[in-house]
Amino acid sequence: MKQLKAIKNQSPPNTDNRRLELREDQMRRAGYKVIDTIIDHQLSLDQKFPVAIASRNEMDILLEEPMPEDGLSIEKVLDFVDRDILANCDYLAHPKSYSFVPGPGNFVSVLADTLAKGFNIFSGGWATSPAAAEIEIITLNWLLKLFKFPSKKGGGLFTSGGSMANLTAIATARRLRCGDDFSKAVIYMSDQAHSSNIKAIRVLGFKKEQVRIIPTDLEFKMSINKLKNAIARDRLEGHSPFCIIASAGTTNTGAIDPLNEIAAICKAESLWFHIDGAYGAAAILSKKGARQLKGIEKADSLTIDPHKWLYQPYEIGCLLVRDHRWLSKTFMAKAEYLRDIEGNKSEINFYDHGIQLTRCFRALKLYMSIKTFGLKSFRKAISYGVDLAEQLEAHLRMSPNWEVISPASLAVINFRYNPIHTKYSEKELDALNQKISNAIIESRKALLVTTILHEKIVLRMCLINPRTTLKDITDTISECEGYVN
Ligand SMILES: *Cc1c(COP(=O)(O)O)cnc(C)c1O
Repeated sequence: MKQLKAIKNQSPPNTDNRRLELREDQMRRAGYKVIDTIIDHQLSLDQKFPVAIASRNEMDILLEEPMPEDGLSIEKVLDFVDRDILANCDYLAHPKSYSFVPGPGNFVSVLADTLAKGFNIFSGGWATSPAAAEIEIITLNWLLKLFKFPSKKGGGLFTSGGSMANLTAIATARRLRCGDDFSKAVIYMSDQAHSSNIKAIRVLGFKKEQVRIIPTDLEFKMSINKLKNAIARDRLEGHSPFCIIASAGTTNTGAIDPLNEIAAICKAESLWFHIDGAYGAAAILSKKGARQLKGIEKADSLTIDPHKWLYQPYEIGCLLVRDHRWLSKTFMAKAEYLRDIEGNKSEINFYDHGIQLTRCFRALKLYMSIKTFGLKSFRKAISYGVDLAEQLEAHLRMSPNWEVISPASLAVINFRYNPIHTKYSEKELDALNQKISNAIIESRKALLVTTILHEKIVLRMCLINPRTTLKDITDTISECEGYVN
């Protein structure tokens, strides 16, 4: 015992530390400190600013250094990281982070990620981590059931995010519908579809001429008439339509494309039906959302993004498909050294279902948070966000200062300052609303930026954080009114 203590009291051998190890007492101290830092941060989040502002130059001055040959104590490094790095980032879990898609996260999943990294679980193949593969299968099966996908035949995988899920989906669609020659293939999506789809199409080597951007109607939903016209015209011109990407919740306005009608077109035309539900699909857990998302079960492939509205910390996205064999048909490429660990058919090697070989154990956090809180809690949290946006809509409609530009839909709402007592030109309104957003960002009190809808500059709030209150929002709205003049 005495001897152990003597060893423990040696100074940290952080230079020439061939084994890259800390002593046990250092590990415990630093580990507890990290947990305390996270908990302190979360408990004091609403007293912090959600917005960080710093120029490249300022960050260079603060952080730039040559690669250090010699190490420091872990305490010093942690203090530095806490003070200079973590303090200079936006907090997307902050109750007044309204922009983009907030990242509320949850503590149980933070612990799950910590465990997954601490054990460094390899989630590529069955043989290396049978239980991790099984948990991924079980969690995917829960999601398949939730979205009414075929439970026996269906499949999917967890990805780094929605972008990778969309890429995986479009690669699969092309493999199954076009084979090797996709020179005439044409793909359809609306002008509100997420940019990650365009990125994926570019990565896959399609030309710009192979993409049709279908205009949306006044409610930002894909125009079915224009979609039909585009497909018919492409057929007449000798092109090969192969895939429609519908949005189940556009990021801009929460608009849902007419899923049932698009499903019927896909069926009649033998097209692949991909739904990008990265933003909105999780709303199926609320009563209103489930009603609005009818038809989602008809997709061939569906992107969902648990690190958005299923409250997971980054990164975890997800792709579901009606038939798990579609994924292996697309991605299985035998590597000789993996031959010995090929599982049988029911023992899935997820490296055969997507792009990555080495994969972290992403399923664990979703699994553990659902196990801990129960689906009921998730249902409540999601319904709360949907209702909160509706409450804000009512609040704005009662005010003489604000105009609702796109009503609350799947917890997103767009509005602008446009007082009834003063007549501003469109140009002045654009400038005013941009000024409001700039001023509130400058104050760092709320993350609230503009978007452009029907050529108007508007403010957009995405209210999926279950810890955002109506008071947080009305305080921000009052703050915004103070910036006019
Ligand atoms: C966020 C989003 C994506 C991209 O997902 P990432 O997780 O950011 O890669 C794709 N589609 C939609 C509709 C989104 O909202």
